[in-house]
Amino acid sequence: MEQPSLKAGILIIGNEVLDGIVLDTNANWMEQRFVELGVEVRRVVSVRDELEEIGSGLDFLTDHCDVVVTSGGLGPTHDDMTLKAIASHLGLELEENPEALAIVERQYRLLHERGIISNGDLTESRRKMAHIPKGSVPLDNRVGGAPGVMLRVGKSTIFCLPGVPAELKDIWKSSVEPWLKNHVVGRYYQEIVEFEVIDESTFSPYIDEVMTEFPGIWIKSLPKRYGSTRVMRVWVSCRSDDEEEVKQKVKDAIKNLQSVSHARIRDVKT
Ligand code: ATP
Ligand code: MG
Repeated sequence: MEQPSLKAGILIIGNEVLDGIVLDTNANWMEQRFVELGVEVRRVVSVRDELEEIGSGLDFLTDHCDVVVTSGGLGPTHDDMTLKAIASHLGLELEENPEALAIVERQYRLLHERGIISNGDLTESRRKMAHIPKGSVPLDNRVGGAPGVMLRVGKSTIFCLPGVPAELKDIWKSSVEPWLKNHVVGRYYQEIVEFEVIDESTFSPYIDEVMTEFPGIWIKSLPKRYGSTRVMRVWVSCRSDDEEEVKQKVKDAIKNLQSVSHARIRDVKT
């Protein structure tokens, strides 16, 4: 089996998530984006808004992951302590970053101009969001006030994103995704197919057979039920240096799986 080139970890920060007040959708959304890019998510950790918890969560992830994305705790309130936690854990100073300050300033001015907030001034608590660990890079946030942050810890690259999903997605698209695309080795392609099956246990050997016949192809499956129809949802993926080759290999493997199993393919709406 071909191993994904990059390993990722996700650190979800926030009491509201662990208290069951907010359902964590950020990890799930990022997991899907990582998979689409061919990055394997190794670990997901949720921690409370506490300095030591954030530090040990980070250790657990950087230990095994090339890239770690944190969600939450970048805002101006007292419980937003992600950057303070990371800086103190790594022995770095927090310092006001001019680029980060320009982002905060611009965002509050725009939010004020759009009538979303009544005062667009750069207050002390807003200024706090421009204090980032020394040596780190601020990431533009075009939705909310807090810039994201990118920094290097040993062999891992850390991205700190806000918890508000729309802000997290904005910074992901403009900063994290381009970085990942640059660092993923080779091309990755995946298709999801659903086969109508009577008996799951008789279908699995066909998967093994196709994986043996198509080296480099990775297949995983999960049973699903639509009313009285039983289906196997099957993910077929491949990594290679050649974009056309990965697509063709995946399509060939699907065709082969269909012909050896004699199962009908359903349309998949993901
Ligand atoms: P802000 O600047 O808005 O305070 P922040 O980075 O400090 O952003 P948090 O204060 O941690 O983010 O979270 C703000 C809000 O975002 C939460 O109240 C919640 O509604 C939402 N949120 C936080 N974490 C998650 C998550 N993991 N999944 C989904 N929504 C989340
Ligand atoms: Mg907050």
